[in-house]
Amino acid sequence: MKIATFTSGEASEIGVVDGDIIVSVSRAAPRLATGMIDLIARWSEVEGEVRRIAQSGPKLRLDNVRLMAPVPRPGKIMALGLNYADHIKESGHEMPAKQVWFCKQVTAVNGPYDPIVLPKVSDAVDYEVELVAVVGKGGRYIPKDQASAALFGFCCGNDVSARDWQIATSQWVLGKSFDTHAPFGPWITTSDEVGDPHTLGIRSFVNGEKRQDSNTSNFVFNVWDQVEYVSKVMTLEPGDLIFTGTPAGVGMGFKPPKYLKDGDTVRVELDRLGHLEAVCLSEV
Ligand code: ZN
Repeated sequence: MKIATFTSGEASEIGVVDGDIIVSVSRAAPRLATGMIDLIARWSEVEGEVRRIAQSGPKLRLDNVRLMAPVPRPGKIMALGLNYADHIKESGHEMPAKQVWFCKQVTAVNGPYDPIVLPKVSDAVDYEVELVAVVGKGGRYIPKDQASAALFGFCCGNDVSARDWQIATSQWVLGKSFDTHAPFGPWITTSDEVGDPHTLGIRSFVNGEKRQDSNTSNFVFNVWDQVEYVSKVMTLEPGDLIFTGTPAGVGMGFKPPKYLKDGDTVRVELDRLGHLEAVCLSEV
């Protein structure tokens, strides 16, 4: 199932996407869930009802609504750096012995087709297509063989990065956390529909030119390793996001670098999960 957050001009709604149709769960059952995090947290209880609504609920044309970030305000966004061998090489790092984690602030969340703002204090904004895991029931000390059951689903993400801020200090958090720099979506595809998340083609394009083209089978640390490792530290909660790393082909890897410019269009896509597309706009 593909579950989205959308608006048709009024309050945001939750819907199930089926081809070019979106069925409004919120209109069919206004009290079913207070929002996406609540829906995810109570999924075992409400799944049957959502599946029933998906068959018979009120339908809208997908191109008549605006898709928003599927989880409008996740509790946290964790991200793994240096997780594809070819990207590690292009960024001049050694193969990491330990997983390299950072976070993106939740104020960076952006909708799947909303503009990416190029901040006036940076001239090195870059794209990174990523598989994003959405936490389901979550938990602490999740062993890798139970990691799949702790997740709700997957979507596309763009780990937009201001390289000048990222590399100015050893901590990457500021360079990864500018407003609008965490677009994800366009909806959450539930785990049962995705199947093995380590078999997905992953690509990015700038103004139609292909920049990244790989497969999640090339991960250094797979999703289950990531869940096991990060949950040793923190409780993963429903609706939390994990950005799982990017392959080679980011703007920083070109000589000279190909950073994003005002008016550029960035598209990121993964097999079976859809795509995000954004125009870049300079901050005024
Ligand atoms: Zn990244």
